[in-house]
Amino acid sequence: MGASFRILVVEDEPVIREFVRSLLSESEVEVECAATGAEGLKLARSQTFDLILLDVVLPQLDGITVCRMLKADPGTAKVPLHMLTAKAKKSDVEVAMKAGADGYIHKPFRGAELMDLVSTLRARKATT
Ligand code: CA
Repeated sequence: MGASFRILVVEDEPVIREFVRSLLSESEVEVECAATGAEGLKLARSQTFDLILLDVVLPQLDGITVCRMLKADPGTAKVPLHMLTAKAKKSDVEVAMKAGADGYIHKPFRGAELMDLVSTLRARKATT
């Protein structure tokens, strides 16, 4: 295993941030958290991440807007970005994919789902 894998979690609910953090604490994954869209945007632009998990419903700047901004910026456009969508609503998913998201995870999500995503991206990183 080479360089560590870094994840940015943009989520205003502390429970979910802590869930992700504790889930990944035993693997070699560094988790950075932001509680607002603006904070997430700032972190995404100032640091390097291997995955961004972005909630749709955030205070001030919503997740869809943040997603559009990150995908329009050459510095962050290539970072895999998965939206956290609260409901299995088709329209939410469509909006997220149109905004440029690489995928989505429905909340509440199971730990295994996130771990699968992380291992897939890690394996991809290791071969590039
Ligand atoms: Ca939220």
